[in-house]
Amino acid sequence: MTEFDIVVIGSGPAGAAAATTAARAGLRVALVDRHVFPRDKLCGGGVTGRALTAYREIFGAEPPELDRKTRFTFHAHGQHLADLEDMPAMYMTTRLSLDNAMHAAACAAGALPLQDRFAGFDEATGTVTLKSGRTLTCRLLIGADSVKSAVGRALFGRSFDPGRIGFALETEAPPIAPDAPVRIDFGAADWGYGWHFPKSGTTTIGVGGIQSRNPDMSTAMRRYLDLFGIGAEAKIKGHHLPFGDVRRRPGRGRVLLCGDAAGLVDPITGEGIGHALRSGAMAAEAAREALEAGRPETALALYTARLRPIHRDLRLARRIRWLLFSPVMRRLFIRAFRGTGGLRHDYMRLLAGEIDYPQLTSRLLRRLPSFLWRGLKPALPQRRKTSP
Ligand SMILES: Cc1cc2nc3c(=O)[nH]c(=O)nc-3n(C[C@H](O)[C@H](O)[C@H](O)COP(=O)(O)OP(=O)(O)OC[C@H]3O[C@@H](n4cnc5c(N)ncnc54)[C@H](O)[C@@H]3O)c2cc1C
Repeated sequence: MTEFDIVVIGSGPAGAAAATTAARAGLRVALVDRHVFPRDKLCGGGVTGRALTAYREIFGAEPPELDRKTRFTFHAHGQHLADLEDMPAMYMTTRLSLDNAMHAAACAAGALPLQDRFAGFDEATGTVTLKSGRTLTCRLLIGADSVKSAVGRALFGRSFDPGRIGFALETEAPPIAPDAPVRIDFGAADWGYGWHFPKSGTTTIGVGGIQSRNPDMSTAMRRYLDLFGIGAEAKIKGHHLPFGDVRRRPGRGRVLLCGDAAGLVDPITGEGIGHALRSGAMAAEAAREALEAGRPETALALYTARLRPIHRDLRLARRIRWLLFSPVMRRLFIRAFRGTGGLRHDYMRLLAGEIDYPQLTSRLLRRLPSFLWRGLKPALPQRRKTSP
């Protein structure tokens, strides 16, 4: 078969969610990935509560091999901030097992898996050309081929803005105690953080932040690994992540972009799995609606409208991230984070999907006067002493 309603390029969370949703709606779907599954993908494998809810809704199943975590420890710039117990849960997995389960679900739903690479799309004829020379025709194309999206490049000339993109380094270390807390270190990279995720069978450790502010991310990673007694033997890998580099027009013509290809990574947490799942499903729903109406050219507008809540959240997160990452705010942030259990709890509730960014922002604004007071209070007498 070479004729499809939808061709999906990439079978990560976004592509697998799109292919599963479209195939279950009765559409003819091809799912193209350059890898044979199971394949691994560089990622912390942290699945937030909101990502888990999306997974269950889309696939109607539980993800495989999840470790449930409710203990967290936070540090910033070498200082201990807080140990949190009994927080809303976050889950740990490996992308090897998670992505394999999603790919299998898409195939079981009826999507045709093809191992190949995207090479080009002729919109006039609906022809997708793959690297092997094979051609497929479709009414709509979904690009879910990650941050270096070849589909995005074909549409816009480049897949991301190098001034805004994030970059992360990661390694796998031996497992530690299964109940060890998830550890986050703000400032382990500039405008970013470090993570130490204990899981069954492995410990994933990484640092990530805005690339343009971290010309020497390897040194930041080495410093971070030193904290855990891990030396030069560690195998370190790197990958870009669209840390706040949202594509406001998520496609063009009959092409829809989702997941990392559309820049849908949270600019504070670096979380991308949940938005990839949601956006993939939204792209497929918009495609179904447009195809049922016999107007494939309307799919992009329908998809963009569905994406609005995610775009709004990412915009808000981008506006408030300076509170966490800016050097000017460092002292204030450390004091506020140590002093206010409410803010820490709200942030964990956001990750769990219990509140959204507009709610978090309004709670933050309500508390801002007391944060400022807490942060500036000890500094005021010193200033008075030095002023003329
Ligand atoms: C170091 C690091 C740690 C991270 N940790 C977390 C975390 O703990 N939690 C979290 O939620 N997010 C995390 N993220 C972000 C998360 O990994 C991504 O946001 C998520 O994988 C995006 O899903 P996706 O489906 O858009 O793309 P991907 O998961 O990257 O999948 C894209 C797929 O497209 C295929 N592909 C690429 N190019 C082509 C081509 N030309 N032709 C055919 N196929 C192609 C690839 O083989 C791949 O299978 C992390 C990212 C990094 C870099």
